[in-house]
Amino acid sequence: MNLEDFELIYKDNRVEIKDKKKVKTKLIELLGEGNVSDDEVDIFAYSRDSTLIGTNWTLQGKISSRPDFITWPETVEDITLILQLANEEKIPVTPFGEGSGVVGGALAVHGGIILDMKKFNKILDINDKDLTVTVESGTNGMNLERSLNAKGYTCGHIPQSLYTSSVGGWIAHRAAGQFSTKYGKIEDIVMGMELVLPMGDIIKFKTIARASTGPQLDKLFIGNEGTLGIVTKATLKIWPYPEKRTYISYAFPTFEDSLEATRHILRQQIYPAVMRIYDQEETIRHFGHLEKAKDRVMVVFVCEGVERLVDLEEIITRETCEKFSGVDCGKEPVEHWFETRFKVTDTSSTPTFKMVYDTIEVGFLWDKAAEMYRSVVEATRKVKGIMLITAHVSHFYPNGVGFYFTFAGIPNNKEITDFEYYKEVWDTVVKAVEDAGGSFGHHHGVGINRSKWMSVEWGKSFDTLKSIKKLLDPNNILNPGKIYESIWEKGGEN
Ligand SMILES: Cc1cc2nc3c(=O)[nH]c(=O)nc-3n(C[C@H](O)[C@H](O)[C@H](O)COP(=O)(O)OP(=O)(O)OC[C@H]3O[C@@H](n4cnc5c(N)ncnc54)[C@H](O)[C@@H]3O)c2cc1C
Repeated sequence: MNLEDFELIYKDNRVEIKDKKKVKTKLIELLGEGNVSDDEVDIFAYSRDSTLIGTNWTLQGKISSRPDFITWPETVEDITLILQLANEEKIPVTPFGEGSGVVGGALAVHGGIILDMKKFNKILDINDKDLTVTVESGTNGMNLERSLNAKGYTCGHIPQSLYTSSVGGWIAHRAAGQFSTKYGKIEDIVMGMELVLPMGDIIKFKTIARASTGPQLDKLFIGNEGTLGIVTKATLKIWPYPEKRTYISYAFPTFEDSLEATRHILRQQIYPAVMRIYDQEETIRHFGHLEKAKDRVMVVFVCEGVERLVDLEEIITRETCEKFSGVDCGKEPVEHWFETRFKVTDTSSTPTFKMVYDTIEVGFLWDKAAEMYRSVVEATRKVKGIMLITAHVSHFYPNGVGFYFTFAGIPNNKEITDFEYYKEVWDTVVKAVEDAGGSFGHHHGVGINRSKWMSVEWGKSFDTLKSIKKLLDPNNILNPGKIYESIWEKGGEN
């Protein structure tokens, strides 16, 4: 099968490059022959990210996007040169970390140049006194964490995609790790950055603990999804590797009891590194073998850090769980989670069963979290063909929580494509979250899947964001099709 034989999902948006040969010659002049490719095999490899519907498409002979060139810059100046050329020729440029994004952020839906950051893979400095690591943005998450562990540190940012994601991708999508309740989300961890702006200018944000030197402009670039700038280097917080780690689990009579217990733990300024509430259906799925968890809601905790503090955290966590009728389930459920926390075999095989499956993470404040959860589940259950809608809560703050919904279904009307069905479920969940007053995305970003909801989420301030985009990227070359415009409705049309 040739690349041309694959049906292109986002076909209407392609920018035609008038003289592809000329552009290729220029790119090779700038970057060297080994750092530029338009080979079919490379174009195919970079035609997708990890958005799960992409696997359904591959099985059906479809591809999400078709970039014209793949480039592997080696220096910050190389990136400037690529962007200058792209502006002259009006060619879209899509930054690419490791392609583990799940909302289409790294898809070159307008064609053009993929700018793969893989060669930016060096750990530049570890500063023990400042507790910082400075790292190039294409560095793989596991390589970074292993290097830190070997020297007695942790970054504390452990997403499930640790093995398959990069530092730049984390910053671009405002990612969250499994240990975020103690160490924070990536926006709490980034201390300094270097970026290349869409017109090719290189800017740096100083590494500093706190400052009062005008607006916090650096925050604008955390979560910019490669649309306002390309992150080339970042300084992140690190911590001494924990002295002690304790596993705790409790099963609660109701979902509300589990939310109340965890909320009260945080009110006492106790921050277990990991807290995960599984709703009743997910409890059955993961802990069905445990008698004590039968008809209950499982919560697992990991406390880590200095031994004496961990011991105190354990006492308070246990007291609070028991106050809210939790039953101690021992270490085994946490060990089970720890062993399987990077495993995605079951979920990634769902497309082979012709299922449409995905996860959607959202943010709620505490006040109405339980009601919001129920309204999302209720709305989603009404979609025809839905087989599963469940949730776990995995990111906790004193003021709110991050929910992670999982859905699976099979369109029971042959007229509807998998993609139409996928969009129907996504839109149902996002609408229910917005109607309930929550936030439509907690850590996977906007990408293609959520751009259509940006004006609802942001209100009038979305106009300000769009003006900033126009100012920095007047030719709209940096990652078009995401955040500021929605191509979601057009995708998949014949
Ligand atoms: C099985 C699985 C588990 C996951 N678990 C988690 C999780 O626990 N927590 C979580 O937060 N996410 C998770 N994700 C989602 C994904 O791993 C994150 O969104 C991750 O941050 C993406 O990193 P990446 O390097 O793969 O980026 P890519 O997918 O390559 O790109 C993502 C976006 O970032 C932009 N980008 C990439 N590099 C740069 C750069 N240097 N400068 C500017 N823009 C850039 C791209 O243009 C794109 O818009 C998971 C995904 C999978 C498949």
